[in-house]
Amino acid sequence: MSATRTAVAMSRSRSQVLEAIRQANGVTRGELHRLIGLSRSAVADAVQGLIEARLVVEELPPPRGKGAGAGRPAAVLRPSADSGLVVGLDFGHSHIAAGIADTAGTVLGERRRALDVDHRPRDAFDAVTALVLELLVEDGRTIDDVRTVAAGLPAPLDLRTGRPHSHPVLAGWAGLDPAAELAARLGRPVALANDADLGALGELRYGAARGLRDFVYVKVSAGLGASLILDREVHRGANGLAGEIGHIRLSERGGLLCRCGNRGCLETVLSTNVMETRFRELASSDTDPVFPLRSCAADPEIATYLREAGRTLGRALADLCNWVNPQAVVVGGVFGTAGQAAAHAVREGMLRFAAPIEGAGVEVHTGELGLRAELMGAVAAAGRKARANTG
Ligand SMILES: [Zn+2]
Repeated sequence: MSATRTAVAMSRSRSQVLEAIRQANGVTRGELHRLIGLSRSAVADAVQGLIEARLVVEELPPPRGKGAGAGRPAAVLRPSADSGLVVGLDFGHSHIAAGIADTAGTVLGERRRALDVDHRPRDAFDAVTALVLELLVEDGRTIDDVRTVAAGLPAPLDLRTGRPHSHPVLAGWAGLDPAAELAARLGRPVALANDADLGALGELRYGAARGLRDFVYVKVSAGLGASLILDREVHRGANGLAGEIGHIRLSERGGLLCRCGNRGCLETVLSTNVMETRFRELASSDTDPVFPLRSCAADPEIATYLREAGRTLGRALADLCNWVNPQAVVVGGVFGTAGQAAAHAVREGMLRFAAPIEGAGVEVHTGELGLRAELMGAVAAAGRKARANTG
């Protein structure tokens, strides 16, 4: 190999290793070798170059920490932090949340508030700005320290305009330019993303999907959306509508009236509102359902309902899994807080309608981050952007 080609190959493997270290939030050389498929010596050379360039630091893990085992514990590699901050924002249908982190992705503070986001978007922009300023003050910082901001919205985004697709479920947002509204308040450009896409990135960076390459993330909360991660990147589709599975109709006739105007959408079987209504009908006591759902799944009637709802979701995911053959499905949002029972039910539904899945070994997990996944994904997306800006 010529000297030039050798240099190009080294540079490419160094970029690959750097991005993997940034995404993994703590990874050993051995894990990098398995994750990327480069030889151990190529990984070692790339890591050495990155440490010398001060882009990566190595830490000895604490006892029983990641990388510890028999013999000398392996050093954990992390991206270097600079002094700047990144901000992640999460807008749900009925909550807002904000988080701040350093550019390496270490979360320094986060806060969440209930608010009617669907009908009061400008109040939501004001309130989330106030949360960011509170977090910065508590950390002794100002908005001048913020490098990048990323925000998730509970709606598909039009990739051409950067605005939410017009849709009856977010009618109060018609004509608004959320990125411009937020940028005007924060004094920083704001990158928008779909909330399920950010939930997937959150679990990829900090939670149940760490180390995965191809997976499907499903968020079941006030709305229902999914995200497809292929080769560790979000697949948005031609118009940004990939993963909009909440309004898939389960049958041509019948079913409950959905807020989109159709009947029998997946969301009429599985969303927070539907679950709350069913829980009140089913629960042996008259107390409201509590989250995480794990705590009320002890009620046999509720457990049966959750199992049926999970199977229905699995049925909706079965075809997708046959088409793209993901390594795993990660169930997030409120439904994900039901724990392993939810994961088992989804897998049962998938197996019933897509037999090849059994052979392909698709795993079903519930998210590790619970209702924080979308916010953590926004923080991760803002961190990626900050690092891209600095090369
Ligand atoms: Zn619908």
